[in-house]
Amino acid sequence: MDFISTRGGAPVSAGSAILKGIASDGGLYVPSFFPILTSEDIDKMCAMEYYERSAFVLGKFLTDYTEEELLTATKAAYERFDGDPAPLVKVDDSTYVLELFHGPTLAFKDIALTLLPHLMTLARKKANSSDKTLILVATSGDTGKAALEGFKDVEGTEIVVIYPSKGVSDMQKLQMQTTTGANTHVIGIEGNFDDAQTAVKTIFKDKEAEEEFAKLGLKLSSANSINWGRLVPQIVYYVSSYVDLYASGEVEDGEKINFVVPTGNFGNILAGYYAKKMGIPINKLIVASNVNNVLTDFFTEGRYDVNRPFHKTMSPSMDILISSNLERLLFEFGDRKAEFVRDLMEKLDLYGKYELDLDKLEEKLGEFLGYHSTEEETSDAIDNFYDMFDYLLDTHTAVAVSAYYNYTADTEDDTKTVIVSTASPYKFAADVYESLTQKRENDSFKAVKKLSNYTGIEIPEQIAELSSLPILHDTVIDKSEIKETIFKIYRG
Ligand SMILES: *Cc1c(COP(=O)(O)O)cnc(C)c1O
Repeated sequence: MDFISTRGGAPVSAGSAILKGIASDGGLYVPSFFPILTSEDIDKMCAMEYYERSAFVLGKFLTDYTEEELLTATKAAYERFDGDPAPLVKVDDSTYVLELFHGPTLAFKDIALTLLPHLMTLARKKANSSDKTLILVATSGDTGKAALEGFKDVEGTEIVVIYPSKGVSDMQKLQMQTTTGANTHVIGIEGNFDDAQTAVKTIFKDKEAEEEFAKLGLKLSSANSINWGRLVPQIVYYVSSYVDLYASGEVEDGEKINFVVPTGNFGNILAGYYAKKMGIPINKLIVASNVNNVLTDFFTEGRYDVNRPFHKTMSPSMDILISSNLERLLFEFGDRKAEFVRDLMEKLDLYGKYELDLDKLEEKLGEFLGYHSTEEETSDAIDNFYDMFDYLLDTHTAVAVSAYYNYTADTEDDTKTVIVSTASPYKFAADVYESLTQKRENDSFKAVKKLSNYTGIEIPEQIAELSSLPILHDTVIDKSEIKETIFKIYRG
């Protein structure tokens, strides 16, 4: 299968789309069509383990990889999880939580980032590439650590992670700063996530920088969800959760389900839309935002406008105003016409906004609904969910739960619904603990202990060990110095 750029450039193979990360015209790679999963495919998947389902779905898109390559890669990736990588937990008659946080860094990013290094290594072999791949990552917290863990000491790769120094949780920061590995670099900036992401995107478009990197034997790639190799593993858990519901008789054959997704860069929920395009019966995709609710406004009013205050919230991985993956959705909305996307992206660059016809948006993308949650509602959702179901939510998943409450209050929809859970509550222990008890504990490690004492839920090893690991990366720079700092690392 070929991959095409949302901005019109030449088609490439899956391997090159994954190696390049972003198209040279600045666009994002999308599959040239969406393969359909037949009912036989679904039946077949019922008997498969997660890694086999993953290789099966990936095989529909990554046709330049062999079945054996994919199975070996998915097996190696998902062995790093604590049990099933994507278990579904039923909380009441019609609500399920899809837990995606059982990987090495306790966030859903692990699902893709444990696999991406394998897909890249295979692609480098196929391309006979002698250059090292330099992975450049902008992170709002969780991608950084997941990418570092995925790529650390992977032969032929270097990784540089850029994060907003004051815009991530203490645990997220410590997780990154304590990363080992000879090829890992972590840089904090004075600025927010959008500054980091914009800087990275600018470097990708910079021809001179590309030549400079080439002289150093480096070829840039991305581990952000702009990379197709990040998105495709995420389609799998939407498919897999439907297969689980169907296999266990929770839904009938073809019965539509809703997904509620805590959303930032729009990568997670976009994968749900792609699963729908492959034939998974999905009713609504509920886009849950925190008070940085650009997407709520977009889906309710048709206007995307980043000219608004940026809020720091207790769900930092969703503190984003420019959701990169929306570009891929606009490509579908505009009937896959590159001019349409180019025009909107130019407006976004110049004015920070663009507008679509609302009726057309509802007609073409009516499965999407935007809801947002205030900080107070998010706290209440944590408290309520724990009271009602004895189930502990993290701050991001709580945004989804709260958005879902708002949605059902509006619509009285009783369709079976999967809440996509994106992180372990222990990554955001202070806010989770305060939501439950109204008591603030600012010391993160004390908050973890108190949360564990209060709930009886075991502290994950990855969190427990953090307090004793040495800080290996403590660079903080101004946002204007990003490019030069990266070059300094490699020029020595
Ligand atoms: C990254 C992240 C999100 C947002 O996902 P997107 O794919 O960027 O929309 C939500 N919750 C957590 C915990 C995350 O790490």
